[in-house]
Amino acid sequence: MNDKTNIVARAKELRELIEYHSNAYYNADAPEIEDDEYDALMRELRKLEHDYPELRDENSPTVKVGGAASSKFAEVVHEVPMQSLQDVFSLEEVKDFCEKFAEYPDVEYVVEKKIDGLSVSLEYTNGVLTRGSTRGDGRIGEDITENLLTIASIPHKIDTTAAFLEVRGEVYMPRRTFAALNQAQEENGLKTFKNPRNAAAGSLRQKDAAITAARGLDIFVFNVQQARGIEFDTHSQSLEFLQNCGFHVSPEYTVAKHYEEVAAAIEGIGSQRGALEYDIDGAVVKINNLSLRERAGVTSKFPKWAVAFKYPPEQKETVLRDIEVTVGRTGVLTPTGVFDPVLLAGTSVSRASLHNQDYISQKDIRIGDTVVLRKAGEIIPEVVFVVKHGGGESYRLPEVCPSCGEKVFRLEDEAALRCVNPACPAQLMRNIIHFASRDAMDIEGMGPAVIEQLIAKGKIQSSADIYQLTEEDISSLERMGKKSAQNLINAVKKSKSNPLYKLIFALGIRHIGETASRQLAAQFGSMQALMNASTEDFAAIEGFGDVMAESVRDYFSTEHARELMTRLGEYGVNLQSTENEGAAASSNALEGLTFVITGTLEGMNRDEAKALIIAHGGKASGSVSKKTSFLLAGENAGSKLTKAEELGVKVITLDELNAMLTEA
Ligand code: NAD
Repeated sequence: MNDKTNIVARAKELRELIEYHSNAYYNADAPEIEDDEYDALMRELRKLEHDYPELRDENSPTVKVGGAASSKFAEVVHEVPMQSLQDVFSLEEVKDFCEKFAEYPDVEYVVEKKIDGLSVSLEYTNGVLTRGSTRGDGRIGEDITENLLTIASIPHKIDTTAAFLEVRGEVYMPRRTFAALNQAQEENGLKTFKNPRNAAAGSLRQKDAAITAARGLDIFVFNVQQARGIEFDTHSQSLEFLQNCGFHVSPEYTVAKHYEEVAAAIEGIGSQRGALEYDIDGAVVKINNLSLRERAGVTSKFPKWAVAFKYPPEQKETVLRDIEVTVGRTGVLTPTGVFDPVLLAGTSVSRASLHNQDYISQKDIRIGDTVVLRKAGEIIPEVVFVVKHGGGESYRLPEVCPSCGEKVFRLEDEAALRCVNPACPAQLMRNIIHFASRDAMDIEGMGPAVIEQLIAKGKIQSSADIYQLTEEDISSLERMGKKSAQNLINAVKKSKSNPLYKLIFALGIRHIGETASRQLAAQFGSMQALMNASTEDFAAIEGFGDVMAESVRDYFSTEHARELMTRLGEYGVNLQSTENEGAAASSNALEGLTFVITGTLEGMNRDEAKALIIAHGGKASGSVSKKTSFLLAGENAGSKLTKAEELGVKVITLDELNAMLTEA
């Protein structure tokens, strides 16, 4: 690139890209690219600014600490800025760094693991933890004291003569905890985290400290930011002090006398990084002598007395021997590549997710190919590219579910293939939990622990089996007495007369939430009518797009769905609209009108009011806009009422709504 305009444009583009990805990473805790890709953008920008000094800008991401404090939390002004670290990517650069200090005869370096988590500050006044905060933009962070207090390894009190002490550390999520959390998130149909760092950041920056407490976070501390009433000559002394106070200190750090020892320590950490219980994203080399640190000084973004060495992602060639397809609990088919084992970042790798058909097709991955594997984000192995084909054919994922043999579907807007068969054994547990849950069939006492045992004993293979359980089946389970068994059987019986919409919702049809279930019950009146309806019939329902319509149709077109309905009918489960829902079919009083509900209504909860509106042909929406016909407001209405008034939307009470229905 030699054209000046191009250079200016590229610098602008790089800054925008970096800002975008910094925001995703620091503020939303949801990065979209790998760290080494981000680092490459940063390096390119740094080089441009170095080669063309006129491009320098005090707001450039190369000179600012990434991140910002969110308004969710109170602000904390960091008396001692929480800076970033200068990255280096080769031992050559580490050598240059060490040599800058080699003239000082007593110089020492400390090499530590660079823990990949979230930087926090802990402040102790007279030995008591008084405040904890995030780094934010380095100057202003977020007050997350409550959340930090839930981390078991952070001492609430320390035995010290220091009147005030500020300690810096890295909160992280151990790899094992991360794996368990993601599994639980998946089972509960919640978003999974990309890596332990994001899981840690997302868990720590919660408004509800109880969530943080449940996430199994841990911390390593690595610096004394400020201390009053106590002094240290070296960094390693301060680490020993912290250790004695009861902190988990930066593990297995090395004090080195010269570059060779520093390099050996960096290599040592590199060779074991895949096998650690936590993620690291490099090694930090710091000057040990605190007076020398003082002399070295800082820039606006990082100290000049430390560098962070980033390990290159390790990659190796291997052969893809097979592709195994499994069905997850959400019904997604996941292809996993099985390779000849290779050693990557300290662990043997022989399997890597191939994600979905698009991923396989784009890289044209075939069984028998020689591929390059690497560990992205240190832990998750992935195929970088195919080196050469090994004679295999283009790979296609199976058209039927490997678990139950039913046809699989690719739903719009999704890269994944999904098995939607409610009886697929791979999805059974999750489906039954949902079926019995409060908003669905509301079977009190039938929680995950009971369901798990019943499935393990072969008593439940489909939701219909719930209705043929006997008291003996239940009382023989762990921690289940006769009384609880009776209660559970009664709850099962009671659920048989639930309104139809609850059963529709309980089926767990993709994209069909409670409101849509109510609409389906109201418009079709019976399970039989739903099974006979076409995609077009569903698409004609107000608010149903093609995705929803197809999803319902796909669901009811499976043999298992039909069998399930027949069996539920035989057990006496209600498959018809009840009085309440039935009223729907007979009144169109609210047709064409959109309602938003707010506040506490007298004599009816909001769900019931919503059902009433839908039952009379109206639409219930979640937010007020110009298209809203009425705001149905009860006591303590908040921002929706203000918005409605601003937009001139008519506000009515429940009595007025009832009057509209009786007048019609
Ligand atoms: P940094 O993470 O490279 O270095 C500074 C941080 O290291 C400090 O905040 C500190 O808490 C931490 N640290 C961990 N162990 C330490 C130890 N023993 N001693 C000292 N510090 C230690 O710098 P940064 O500016 O916070 O973030 C840059 C990093 O974030 C890069 O790795 C970059 O790849 C990544 N990032 C990725 C994306 C993305 O989209 N993937 C976006 C932004 C940033």
